[in-house]
Amino acid sequence: MKAMLLRAPNTPFELVDLPDPVAGPGEAVARVITCGSGLTIQHIKAGRRQAEFPRIIGHEITGEIVDVGPGVSGLAVGDGVTAYYYLNCGHCRWCLANFEPLCVNTGGNVGLNCDGGYAEYIKLPARIFIKLPAGLDYKAHPAEIGVVTDALATPYKVLRRARIAPGETVAVFGAGGGLGIHQVMMAKWAKARVIAVDIAKDKFDACRQAGADETVDASSYDVAEALLDLTHGEGVDVAIDYVSSAGTLEAAALALGRHGRLVTLGGAGQTFHVSARNLLNKEQDILGSRYVTRREILETFGLVARGEVWPLVTEIRPLAEAEILHERVERGEVTGRAALAIAPLASRAATP
Ligand SMILES: [Zn+2]
Repeated sequence: MKAMLLRAPNTPFELVDLPDPVAGPGEAVARVITCGSGLTIQHIKAGRRQAEFPRIIGHEITGEIVDVGPGVSGLAVGDGVTAYYYLNCGHCRWCLANFEPLCVNTGGNVGLNCDGGYAEYIKLPARIFIKLPAGLDYKAHPAEIGVVTDALATPYKVLRRARIAPGETVAVFGAGGGLGIHQVMMAKWAKARVIAVDIAKDKFDACRQAGADETVDASSYDVAEALLDLTHGEGVDVAIDYVSSAGTLEAAALALGRHGRLVTLGGAGQTFHVSARNLLNKEQDILGSRYVTRREILETFGLVARGEVWPLVTEIRPLAEAEILHERVERGEVTGRAALAIAPLASRAATP
Protein backbone atom coordinates (compact mmCIF):
# COMPACT_ATOMS: atom_id res chain seq x y z
CA MET A 1 0.00 0.00 0.00
CA LYS A 2 0.98 3.61 -0.45
CA ALA A 3 1.45 5.52 2.78
CA MET A 4 2.66 8.93 3.91
CA LEU A 5 5.33 8.16 6.43
CA LEU A 6 6.98 10.43 8.99
CA ARG A 7 10.44 9.12 9.83
CA ALA A 8 11.11 11.69 12.55
CA PRO A 9 9.47 14.76 14.08
CA ASN A 10 9.63 17.97 12.09
CA THR A 11 10.54 16.27 8.80
CA PRO A 12 8.60 16.16 5.51
CA PHE A 13 6.27 13.29 4.70
CA GLU A 14 7.72 10.50 2.60
CA LEU A 15 5.43 8.63 0.18
CA VAL A 16 6.38 4.98 0.60
CA ASP A 17 5.19 1.53 -0.43
CA LEU A 18 4.48 -0.80 2.49
CA PRO A 19 3.00 -4.29 2.63
CA ASP A 20 -0.82 -4.27 2.87
CA PRO A 21 -1.76 -4.92 6.51
CA VAL A 22 -3.44 -8.23 7.35
CA ALA A 23 -5.93 -8.51 10.22
CA GLY A 24 -4.74 -10.69 13.10
CA PRO A 25 -6.96 -12.02 15.89
CA GLY A 26 -9.28 -9.29 17.18
CA GLU A 27 -8.23 -6.90 14.43
CA ALA A 28 -9.73 -5.47 11.27
CA VAL A 29 -8.35 -3.64 8.25
CA ALA A 30 -10.13 -0.80 6.46
CA ARG A 31 -9.43 0.77 3.12
CA VAL A 32 -9.08 4.49 3.82
CA ILE A 33 -11.22 6.72 1.62
CA THR A 34 -10.44 10.05 3.32
CA CYS A 35 -8.59 11.22 6.40
CA GLY A 36 -8.96 14.59 8.13
CA SER A 37 -5.95 16.90 8.47
CA GLY A 38 -6.14 19.07 11.56
CA LEU A 39 -3.89 20.77 14.04
CA THR A 40 -3.99 17.79 16.43
CA ILE A 41 -1.94 15.71 14.02
CA GLN A 42 0.11 18.65 12.77
CA HIS A 43 1.35 18.94 16.39
CA ILE A 44 2.76 15.40 16.01
CA LYS A 45 4.38 16.18 12.66
CA ALA A 46 5.89 19.40 14.01
CA GLY A 47 7.32 17.57 17.04
CA ARG A 48 5.19 19.46 19.55
CA ARG A 49 3.55 16.21 20.60
CA GLN A 50 5.61 13.15 21.48
CA ALA A 51 5.19 10.12 19.25
CA GLU A 52 7.08 7.01 18.26
CA PHE A 53 8.61 7.19 14.78
CA PRO A 54 8.45 6.12 12.01
CA ARG A 55 4.75 6.80 12.11
CA ILE A 56 1.73 7.12 9.82
CA ILE A 57 -0.45 9.83 11.33
CA GLY A 58 -4.16 10.59 10.90
CA HIS A 59 -7.31 9.48 12.73
CA GLU A 60 -10.37 11.20 11.26
CA ILE A 61 -11.00 8.46 8.72
CA THR A 62 -13.82 7.33 6.52
CA GLY A 63 -13.16 3.83 5.26
CA GLU A 64 -14.56 0.44 4.36
CA ILE A 65 -13.66 -2.82 6.06
CA VAL A 66 -11.68 -5.13 3.76
CA ASP A 67 -10.38 -7.73 6.20
CA VAL A 68 -11.62 -9.05 9.54
CA GLY A 69 -9.43 -11.18 11.81
CA PRO A 70 -10.41 -14.26 13.83
CA GLY A 71 -12.63 -13.65 16.84
CA VAL A 72 -14.12 -10.40 15.59
CA SER A 73 -17.87 -9.96 15.69
CA GLY A 74 -20.08 -7.07 14.67
CA LEU A 75 -17.86 -6.00 11.78
CA ALA A 76 -17.93 -7.37 8.23
CA VAL A 77 -16.13 -6.79 4.94
CA GLY A 78 -17.80 -3.88 3.15
CA ASP A 79 -18.94 -2.04 6.29
CA GLY A 80 -18.46 1.73 6.19
CA VAL A 81 -16.45 2.78 9.24
CA THR A 82 -14.66 5.54 11.04
CA ALA A 83 -12.33 5.17 14.02
CA TYR A 84 -12.40 6.10 17.69
CA TYR A 85 -9.30 8.22 18.40
CA TYR A 86 -8.26 6.51 21.64
CA LEU A 87 -6.89 2.96 21.79
CA ASN A 88 -8.98 2.17 24.84
CA CYS A 89 -9.44 -1.09 26.71
CA GLY A 90 -13.24 -1.08 26.65
CA HIS A 91 -13.55 -2.83 30.03
CA CYS A 92 -12.20 -0.57 32.81
CA ARG A 93 -14.67 1.28 35.04
CA TRP A 94 -14.22 4.49 33.04
CA CYS A 95 -14.85 2.80 29.69
CA LEU A 96 -17.86 1.01 31.13
CA ALA A 97 -19.23 4.17 32.74
CA ASN A 98 -19.33 6.08 29.43
CA PHE A 99 -16.23 8.12 30.33
CA GLU A 100 -14.06 6.49 27.66
CA PRO A 101 -11.55 9.36 27.28
CA LEU A 102 -10.54 8.67 30.91
CA CYS A 103 -9.67 4.96 30.30
CA VAL A 104 -6.96 3.88 32.73
CA ASN A 105 -5.57 1.25 30.36
CA THR A 106 -5.48 3.34 27.22
CA GLY A 107 -2.91 2.41 24.62
CA GLY A 108 -2.75 6.01 23.41
CA ASN A 109 -4.11 7.36 20.17
CA VAL A 110 -4.66 6.20 16.59
CA GLY A 111 -1.98 7.76 14.42
CA LEU A 112 0.22 8.46 17.44
CA ASN A 113 0.82 5.16 19.24
CA CYS A 114 -0.13 3.01 16.24
CA ASP A 115 -0.23 3.78 12.53
CA GLY A 116 -3.13 5.90 11.37
CA GLY A 117 -5.04 6.93 8.29
CA TYR A 118 -2.53 8.58 5.95
CA ALA A 119 -2.29 5.33 4.00
CA GLU A 120 -4.39 3.23 1.66
CA TYR A 121 -5.17 0.79 4.50
CA ILE A 122 -5.39 1.03 8.27
CA LYS A 123 -5.27 -1.89 10.70
CA LEU A 124 -6.72 -1.42 14.17
CA PRO A 125 -8.15 -3.50 17.01
CA ALA A 126 -11.65 -4.18 15.67
CA ARG A 127 -13.31 -2.51 18.68
CA ILE A 128 -11.69 0.82 17.71
CA PHE A 129 -13.61 0.95 14.43
CA ILE A 130 -17.04 2.57 14.61
CA LYS A 131 -19.57 1.38 12.08
CA LEU A 132 -21.14 4.32 10.26
CA PRO A 133 -24.87 4.37 10.96
CA ALA A 134 -27.43 4.01 8.19
CA GLY A 135 -28.61 7.34 6.83
CA LEU A 136 -25.14 8.81 6.50
CA ASP A 137 -24.12 9.06 2.87
CA TYR A 138 -20.41 8.51 3.47
CA LYS A 139 -19.85 7.57 -0.16
CA ALA A 140 -21.01 10.98 -1.34
CA HIS A 141 -19.32 12.94 1.48
CA PRO A 142 -16.46 10.85 2.87
CA ALA A 143 -14.29 13.81 3.95
CA GLU A 144 -17.13 15.44 5.87
CA ILE A 145 -18.25 12.22 7.55
CA GLY A 146 -14.66 11.37 8.53
CA VAL A 147 -14.08 14.56 10.49
CA VAL A 148 -17.28 14.24 12.53
CA THR A 149 -15.60 11.99 15.12
CA ASP A 150 -13.37 14.80 16.33
CA ALA A 151 -14.08 18.19 14.74
CA LEU A 152 -17.82 18.03 15.28
CA ALA A 153 -18.31 15.50 18.10
CA THR A 154 -15.86 17.27 20.44
CA PRO A 155 -17.85 20.55 20.27
CA TYR A 156 -21.08 18.56 20.65
CA LYS A 157 -19.79 17.02 23.88
CA VAL A 158 -18.91 20.50 25.21
CA LEU A 159 -22.57 21.54 24.96
CA ARG A 160 -23.40 18.95 27.58
CA ARG A 161 -20.21 19.32 29.61
CA ALA A 162 -20.87 23.07 29.99
CA ARG A 163 -24.65 22.61 30.37
CA ILE A 164 -25.34 25.16 27.65
CA ALA A 165 -28.99 26.23 27.63
CA PRO A 166 -30.93 28.09 24.92
CA GLY A 167 -30.53 31.84 25.19
CA GLU A 168 -27.24 31.73 27.07
CA THR A 169 -24.23 33.70 25.85
CA VAL A 170 -21.31 31.54 24.77
CA ALA A 171 -17.86 32.92 23.89
CA VAL A 172 -15.66 30.63 21.79
CA PHE A 173 -11.93 31.38 22.04
CA GLY A 174 -10.03 30.25 18.94
CA ALA A 175 -13.31 30.36 17.02
CA GLY A 176 -11.56 30.50 13.65
CA GLY A 177 -9.76 27.18 14.21
CA GLY A 178 -10.83 23.77 12.98
CA LEU A 179 -12.62 22.83 16.20
CA GLY A 180 -13.53 26.40 17.18
CA ILE A 181 -15.63 27.03 14.10
CA HIS A 182 -17.51 23.78 14.67
CA GLN A 183 -18.05 24.87 18.30
CA VAL A 184 -19.61 28.09 16.98
CA MET A 185 -21.86 25.96 14.77
CA MET A 186 -22.82 23.63 17.63
CA ALA A 187 -23.46 26.42 20.14
CA LYS A 188 -25.74 28.09 17.58
CA TRP A 189 -27.49 24.77 17.02
CA ALA A 190 -28.06 24.73 20.80
CA LYS A 191 -29.75 28.15 20.43
CA ALA A 192 -27.12 30.11 22.33
CA ARG A 193 -25.96 33.62 21.54
CA VAL A 194 -22.47 33.01 20.19
CA ILE A 195 -19.48 35.35 20.33
CA ALA A 196 -16.48 34.30 18.26
CA VAL A 197 -13.08 35.34 19.67
CA ASP A 198 -9.93 35.04 17.57
CA ILE A 199 -6.84 36.89 16.41
CA ALA A 200 -7.41 35.75 12.80
CA LYS A 201 -9.73 38.45 11.48
CA ASP A 202 -9.85 36.74 8.09
CA LYS A 203 -11.81 33.89 9.70
CA PHE A 204 -14.59 36.11 11.06
CA ASP A 205 -16.78 35.88 7.94
CA ALA A 206 -16.66 32.08 8.20
CA CYS A 207 -17.44 32.33 11.94
CA ARG A 208 -20.51 34.45 11.17
CA GLN A 209 -21.61 31.99 8.50
CA ALA A 210 -21.20 29.19 11.04
CA GLY A 211 -23.54 31.06 13.38
CA ALA A 212 -21.56 33.66 15.35
CA ASP A 213 -23.73 36.61 16.38
CA GLU A 214 -20.72 38.78 17.22
CA THR A 215 -16.96 38.64 16.82
CA VAL A 216 -14.13 39.95 19.01
CA ASP A 217 -10.75 40.63 17.48
CA ALA A 218 -8.35 39.51 20.21
CA SER A 219 -5.39 41.04 18.39
CA SER A 220 -6.79 44.58 18.80
CA TYR A 221 -9.01 44.51 21.89
CA ASP A 222 -8.89 43.49 25.53
CA VAL A 223 -11.03 40.38 25.20
CA ALA A 224 -12.43 40.35 28.74
CA GLU A 225 -13.47 44.01 28.44
CA ALA A 226 -14.99 43.44 25.01
CA LEU A 227 -17.01 40.47 26.28
CA LEU A 228 -18.20 42.46 29.32
CA ASP A 229 -19.22 45.33 27.01
CA LEU A 230 -21.16 42.96 24.75
CA THR A 231 -23.03 41.59 27.77
CA HIS A 232 -23.70 44.98 29.43
CA GLY A 233 -21.26 44.17 32.20
CA GLU A 234 -22.90 40.87 33.15
CA GLY A 235 -20.29 38.60 31.63
CA VAL A 236 -20.77 35.51 29.47
CA ASP A 237 -22.54 32.36 30.64
CA VAL A 238 -19.99 30.05 29.05
CA ALA A 239 -16.45 30.55 27.75
CA ILE A 240 -15.01 27.70 25.68
CA ASP A 241 -11.28 28.02 25.16
CA TYR A 242 -9.70 26.07 22.30
CA VAL A 243 -6.48 28.10 22.63
CA SER A 244 -6.14 27.54 26.38
CA SER A 245 -2.97 29.54 26.93
CA ALA A 246 -2.65 31.11 30.38
CA GLY A 247 -3.57 34.45 28.77
CA THR A 248 -6.75 33.29 27.05
CA LEU A 249 -7.90 31.28 30.08
CA GLU A 250 -7.42 34.26 32.38
CA ALA A 251 -9.29 36.55 29.97
CA ALA A 252 -12.07 33.97 29.71
CA ALA A 253 -12.29 33.69 33.51
CA LEU A 254 -12.49 37.49 33.87
CA ALA A 255 -15.29 37.63 31.30
CA LEU A 256 -17.38 34.98 33.09
CA GLY A 257 -20.66 36.07 34.67
CA ARG A 258 -22.77 34.65 37.48
CA HIS A 259 -23.06 30.88 37.26
CA GLY A 260 -20.47 31.09 34.47
CA ARG A 261 -18.70 28.03 33.15
CA LEU A 262 -15.19 28.01 31.68
CA VAL A 263 -14.17 25.02 29.57
CA THR A 264 -10.57 24.32 28.63
CA LEU A 265 -9.63 22.17 25.62
CA GLY A 266 -6.27 21.91 23.95
CA GLY A 267 -3.40 24.21 24.82
CA ALA A 268 -0.06 23.37 26.35
CA GLY A 269 -1.36 22.71 29.86
CA GLN A 270 -0.11 25.97 31.36
CA THR A 271 -0.95 27.02 34.91
CA PHE A 272 -3.26 30.02 35.07
CA HIS A 273 -4.68 32.31 37.72
CA VAL A 274 -8.33 32.66 38.53
CA SER A 275 -10.14 34.55 41.28
CA ALA A 276 -11.39 32.21 44.00
CA ARG A 277 -13.62 35.06 45.15
CA ASN A 278 -15.39 35.12 41.78
CA LEU A 279 -15.68 31.33 41.77
CA LEU A 280 -17.36 31.50 45.18
CA ASN A 281 -19.46 34.65 44.87
CA LYS A 282 -20.65 33.92 41.34
CA GLU A 283 -20.83 30.13 41.68
CA GLN A 284 -18.64 29.61 38.65
CA ASP A 285 -17.27 26.33 37.31
CA ILE A 286 -13.95 25.56 35.66
CA LEU A 287 -14.13 22.44 33.50
CA GLY A 288 -11.85 20.37 31.33
CA SER A 289 -13.28 18.54 28.34
CA ARG A 290 -11.38 15.71 26.75
CA TYR A 291 -12.39 14.21 23.38
CA VAL A 292 -15.68 12.29 23.32
CA THR A 293 -17.36 8.99 24.03
CA ARG A 294 -18.58 6.64 21.31
CA ARG A 295 -22.11 7.50 22.33
CA GLU A 296 -21.38 11.18 21.67
CA ILE A 297 -19.95 10.29 18.27
CA LEU A 298 -23.09 8.32 17.39
CA GLU A 299 -25.31 11.15 18.61
CA THR A 300 -23.33 13.63 16.49
CA PHE A 301 -23.69 11.34 13.48
CA GLY A 302 -27.43 11.43 14.13
CA LEU A 303 -27.42 15.24 13.92
CA VAL A 304 -25.43 15.11 10.68
CA ALA A 305 -27.67 12.40 9.18
CA ARG A 306 -30.73 14.54 9.92
CA GLY A 307 -29.04 17.57 8.35
CA GLU A 308 -29.13 19.65 11.55
CA VAL A 309 -25.41 20.39 11.39
CA TRP A 310 -22.87 19.76 8.68
CA PRO A 311 -19.07 19.64 8.99
CA LEU A 312 -17.15 22.44 7.31
CA VAL A 313 -14.49 20.86 5.07
CA THR A 314 -13.04 23.50 2.77
CA GLU A 315 -10.02 21.76 1.34
CA ILE A 316 -9.59 18.21 0.05
CA ARG A 317 -6.28 17.18 -1.52
CA PRO A 318 -4.81 13.88 -2.73
CA LEU A 319 -2.49 11.92 -0.44
CA ALA A 320 0.51 13.07 -2.48
CA GLU A 321 -0.16 16.66 -1.40
CA ALA A 322 -0.11 15.96 2.33
CA GLU A 323 2.98 18.11 2.83
CA ILE A 324 1.43 21.16 1.14
CA LEU A 325 -1.76 20.70 3.12
CA HIS A 326 0.10 20.47 6.44
CA GLU A 327 2.04 23.64 5.65
CA ARG A 328 -1.30 25.37 5.24
CA VAL A 329 -2.64 23.85 8.47
CA GLU A 330 0.51 24.97 10.31
CA ARG A 331 0.09 28.54 9.05
CA GLY A 332 -3.60 28.59 10.04
CA GLU A 333 -4.68 29.12 6.44
CA VAL A 334 -7.36 26.43 6.36
CA THR A 335 -10.91 27.45 7.28
CA GLY A 336 -12.74 24.66 9.07
CA ARG A 337 -11.21 21.27 8.33
CA ALA A 338 -9.02 19.94 5.55
CA ALA A 339 -8.81 16.32 4.46
CA LEU A 340 -6.81 14.00 2.25
CA ALA A 341 -8.63 11.95 -0.38
CA ILE A 342 -6.81 8.63 -0.33
CA ALA A 343 -8.67 5.87 -2.16
CA PRO A 344 -11.34 6.01 -4.83
CA LEU A 345 -14.64 4.49 -3.77
CA ALA A 346 -14.54 1.31 -5.87
CA SER A 347 -14.16 -1.54 -3.40
CA ARG A 348 -11.07 -3.66 -3.32
CA ALA A 349 -11.78 -7.35 -3.74
CA ALA A 350 -12.21 -9.08 -0.40
CA THR A 351 -8.97 -10.43 0.98
CA PRO A 352 -8.51 -14.05 -0.16
ZN1 LIG B 1 -10.72 1.44 29.71
